Amino acid sequence: AIPLVVAISTAISARKGLLIRNRTAFEEARKITAMVFDKTGTLTEGAFGVTRVSVLAPGLDEATLLALTAALEQQSQHPIAQGIVREALQRKLALPAIQDFQSITGKGVSATVDGRPVVVASPGYLNEQHIVLPAEATSNGTETVVFVLRDGQLAGYVALADRIRADSKEAVHRLQAQGIKVYMATGDNQQVADAVAKELGLDGVYAQVLPDQKVKIVQDLQAQGQFVAMTGDGVNDAPALAQANVGIAVGSGTDIAAETADIILVNSKPTDITNLVEFGQATYRKMI
Ligand code: ADP
Ligand code: MG
Repeated sequence: AIPLVVAISTAISARKGLLIRNRTAFEEARKITAMVFDKTGTLTEGAFGVTRVSVLAPGLDEATLLALTAALEQQSQHPIAQGIVREALQRKLALPAIQDFQSITGKGVSATVDGRPVVVASPGYLNEQHIVLPAEATSNGTETVVFVLRDGQLAGYVALADRIRADSKEAVHRLQAQGIKVYMATGDNQQVADAVAKELGLDGVYAQVLPDQKVKIVQDLQAQGQFVAMTGDGVNDAPALAQANVGIAVGSGTDIAAETADIILVNSKPTDITNLVEFGQATYRKMI
């Protein structure tokens, strides 16, 4: 049987924008000492607009590069992909046919276009492939940049901008007021991560994080004796959500993230997490 206090708490929490899948996790919310947010779609709105399209290879123009990129991104659900496709449609570009589409989880996408391999991916992916990034592509602090490779060569890049959610700062400050350290883990580049961290006053930031490294971040904090909560919205976040003491999937996220999580954040509002922690403590006080 479900203890009455838990049943009541669960019902109340649903009204507060939270869906509890694992009631012990809800009771454990009061024990959280470290909160790890993912950036895109959680601390930020995850609504990207294209700010720049830049060609780096001879024989290509901006429209062709954007059309090529959008052709791959049409197959992806990522907020970056949606921003790129929207821009291509606004420019009324005809998108080329693609074959062999594959998602490179947490890194990008790949396909074959006119018999040539094309990859659209993060700076972290280029580093892994030992491809040197052009300086001007990484210098702008607030832009997210994805790179286009054709035949394994750098063809150009697309820069996009996202916005910090209106209630992110309040959420961070209220968690810190409860003595909780607030971190961000993101696959995005260091400059973007630092800009968001500074704006929100975070205790720490992990940038250019690959999917398996998110699990490691949670494990390292746990090894330091921290009781770790982690949010995520993507397939790539599922293992880290499972590793965390409290795994929180944001409502707009994928089903796999939601299935792995203890708690689902229905409205994707960071302050609902703050409410969860404060409410968890209030509930605990009622039980003792
Ligand atoms: P976050 O941790 O901010 O939620 P993700 O882990 O979802 O970011 O993605 C990490 C990085 O991988 C993105 O910043 C981007 O550079 C790259 N990436 C992921 N999916 C795509 C995609 N469909 N197209 C291009 N780049 C992508
Ligand atoms: Mg994500």
